Amino acid sequence: MRAVVVESFGKVPRVVDVPDPAPPAHGVVVAVEATGVCRSDWHAWQGHDPDVVLPHVPGHELAGAVVAVGGDVRRWAVGDRVTTPFVTACGTCPECAAGQQQVCRGQTQPGFTGWGSFAELVALDHADVNLFDLGELPATTAAALGCRVATAFRAVTDVAAVRAGEWVAVHGCGGVGLSTIGVAVAGGARVIAIDPSPDARQLARDFGAEAALDPAGTGPVDEIVERTEGGAHASFDAVGLAATCEASIRCLRRRGRHVQIGLLPAAAGRPVVPMDLVIARELQVLGSHGMAAHDYPRLLALVGSGRFPLDRLLTRTLPLEAGPAALAEVNTATAAGVTVLLPAGTTI
Ligand SMILES: [Zn+2]
Ligand SMILES: [Zn+2]
Repeated sequence: MRAVVVESFGKVPRVVDVPDPAPPAHGVVVAVEATGVCRSDWHAWQGHDPDVVLPHVPGHELAGAVVAVGGDVRRWAVGDRVTTPFVTACGTCPECAAGQQQVCRGQTQPGFTGWGSFAELVALDHADVNLFDLGELPATTAAALGCRVATAFRAVTDVAAVRAGEWVAVHGCGGVGLSTIGVAVAGGARVIAIDPSPDARQLARDFGAEAALDPAGTGPVDEIVERTEGGAHASFDAVGLAATCEASIRCLRRRGRHVQIGLLPAAAGRPVVPMDLVIARELQVLGSHGMAAHDYPRLLALVGSGRFPLDRLLTRTLPLEAGPAALAEVNTATAAGVTVLLPAGTTI
């Protein structure tokens, strides 16, 4: 198969022929029809993720058709069109038993613990636990939902439990930040977005943010506190930098909830967390790590309602051959919104 292969961390990967994967007994192989390009792929490429072993194939926001099935799989057959959470859960540990597959202790992750979906084919573990039937959903839509809309959906609706009328701050307006804005606005929250890029701030307003601030200069905290008359009820670090994490905590009102969505890998440096404020203001500091497959119907109900502008989130489709360049562009204005890769040779 053709695949985007990372041969050394930080060096632009190449598109080359590699052996086809075989399904594990509990898994399947999927022919990739669409796969999203995400900042966590960029982290893996930069060598920030200790799970990643070279040579490596990135990609975890995929949709496609099952082409091979392991002997123990009961629910899926060749030809089924599916997607999966980026955490492929084991299905048998205590967290899985409690319905919290997104923090499964026996999890694997395509594109991190093993080869991912920047390829013609990808092997997925524990198919009966993790796959979700696409139904009529186009593969590009499912890939654009990827980890980002799913993560944002759960972070807003479950982890922070945002209520209508609350003030929400979203630090960073890339794919997951815009998704967070869209989900919060759909739920009736009032959103202030923060991003240094004018294009990203315009997208944030398109997604329903009332204000979009540039964090340059004195930083956004004072302006958020002023506009919200005391601070945000909930704030999301959708970037994953020491500065955005700290600003997200500082901009909260008393008893506010900070949710960390953007990855903060230890290799990129530890953030300073103002624990004095966490105590004095009784703040909650929460983490959010994806969404289990059984939550997809709730997410698709939101998308189906038309209240979440998924079409606006998907800003670019490219053929697989453009994967290396797309990875290198993750932190640039070119990559505002979500980029989805289509099979090699696709004419855009
Ligand atoms: Zn598990
Ligand atoms: Zn992702």
